[in-house]
Amino acid sequence: STSNPLANYSTELHDDQADKVDKYLHNLQLSDKTLMDVSLRFRREMDKGLCRDTNPTAAVKMLPTFVRSTPDGTEQGQFLALDLGGSNFRVLLVKVMGNGEQKVEMESQIYDIPEHIMRGSGSEFFDHIAACLANYLDKMGMKDKKLPLGFTFSFPCQQTKLDEAVLMSWTKGFRSSGVEGQDVVSLLRKSIKKRGDFDIDIVSVVNDTVGTMMTCGFDDRHCEVGLIVGTGTNACYMEQMRNIGVLDGDEGRMCVNTEWGAFGDDGALEDLRTDIDRELDAGSFNPGKQLFEKMISGMYMGELVRLILVKMARSQLLFQGKTTSELLTTGHFNEEGIASAEKILRGLGLDPSVEDCIATRRVCQIVSTRAAHLCASSLASVLRQIRDNKKPWGLNQMCVFSRFSRRLNKMVRRLVPDCDVRFLQSQDGSGKGAAMVTAVAFRLANQNAD
Ligand code: BGC
Ligand code: MG
Repeated sequence: STSNPLANYSTELHDDQADKVDKYLHNLQLSDKTLMDVSLRFRREMDKGLCRDTNPTAAVKMLPTFVRSTPDGTEQGQFLALDLGGSNFRVLLVKVMGNGEQKVEMESQIYDIPEHIMRGSGSEFFDHIAACLANYLDKMGMKDKKLPLGFTFSFPCQQTKLDEAVLMSWTKGFRSSGVEGQDVVSLLRKSIKKRGDFDIDIVSVVNDTVGTMMTCGFDDRHCEVGLIVGTGTNACYMEQMRNIGVLDGDEGRMCVNTEWGAFGDDGALEDLRTDIDRELDAGSFNPGKQLFEKMISGMYMGELVRLILVKMARSQLLFQGKTTSELLTTGHFNEEGIASAEKILRGLGLDPSVEDCIATRRVCQIVSTRAAHLCASSLASVLRQIRDNKKPWGLNQMCVFSRFSRRLNKMVRRLVPDCDVRFLQSQDGSGKGAAMVTAVAFRLANQNAD
C-alpha cells in the first residue's frame, strides 16, 4: 500500500533494477514491427520449403507427413504408441472409443534412456527401445498379441509413406551414431525381430507436432495446427496438396511438418541474433543448426539466461562482479531457474543481493518473452497461410493446440487480428497422437476396403 514506505522503496528498487536490465538487454526486446517482419520472413521460408525448385536449399523443410486426414471421431481400437524425442521416452497403450462415446483411455510408462545409449550406436539405441517395449508388453500381459503401433519420433524426417521416416539430423542433444540417413522404422523393426520374443505391426511414424494436432483433432474437428514448445520447438498444419510442390497430386490435404526450429539456419535471422545467441550456438551439440529453436525452446532458455548473467557480472552489473565456477559451467542454470532465481543463484554458490535477484528475474522474463513473441510470429504465418487457403470458401475459424502461454496468445492476436483462433492445451498429446494417426489409418483402410 502507499502508506508503507518499504513497499514504495521496493517498487522503486524493482523499477530501477528492471530498467538497468532492460537497457542492457534492449536488443532482446523485439518491437511489434520487427515481429511482423519476422512473420513475413517466415511466410517466405514456408513458400521456399513447399516449392519443388527451392526446397533443396530451403532452411525450413516443410516436410510432408502422409497424414491426410484429421480424426472424424469415429475411430476406434486398441493401439500401442512410442513417444521419443522429448524430455523422456514413453510407451503407451491407447484405447480409442469413437462413435458416440468419443473417449480415449491411456496407460503409459516412462523409461529412461541412459546417457551412454543416447551417445552410443544406433543399433544399441533401438535395441534399448525394443527392450523397453518388451518390458511393457510383459507387464501388461500382452506379449502374444500383435498390436498396431504408432511411433512418435520428434525429429526432422523425410517420409515417403506413413510407416517410413528417414532421419535427416538429430536435434535437442540426441547423438546416437549411424541413424542419420536411415529409416527409423526399419531400425526399430530390426531390433524387435532380433529379440524374437514379440511381434508388432508398426503402422505409422509421426512427429510430436502431428501427434499433438491429431489428439486434439479427435475432440475438436476444427483443429488443424499442432504446436510444440518443449525441449525443442516446432509446428505442423494441414496444407492443401496443391500447395505441396514437392509431392505430385493436387487433391485434398496433407499435414506438413514445418520444422521451423531450423528457421535462420541459412542466415535469415542474423540481424536479430545477438552475441548471446551466437555464444549459445557455438557451445551447443549442433552449431549452426536449429537457430530459431535455440531462441525459443526449453532446452536453451536456462543457458541463455546463464550466459547473460555471466556477461552482466563481468561488466560489474551483478553479484558485485563475482562469478563462481558453477555459474561459469554450461547447463548449470536450467529451466526451473527461471521460476526461482534466488534459490538457483545460491545453488550456484553466489550470494545474491535483493537487487541481484530482481535483476535476474527480469533477465528471465526478457528471455522468455522474446521466445513467446518469436514463436507467435511464426505461428501467425502458419495461420495466415491456412486462412489464405480457405479464402474462397470464406471459412476462417481454426483451432490451435499447444502447451502455451498468455504472451504467445496475445501476440498472435496482435499479429493476425483477422484470424479467429482458439488455443487448446493437449493432455499427453504427442504420444496419444501416434495412436490416433494409427486409428485414422485403420479407419481409412477399412473404408477403402468397403
Ligand atoms: C525437432 C522437431 C520436433 C521439435 C519438438 C525439434 O528439435 O526437430 O521435429 O517437433 O523439436 O519436439
Ligand atoms: Mg502438389
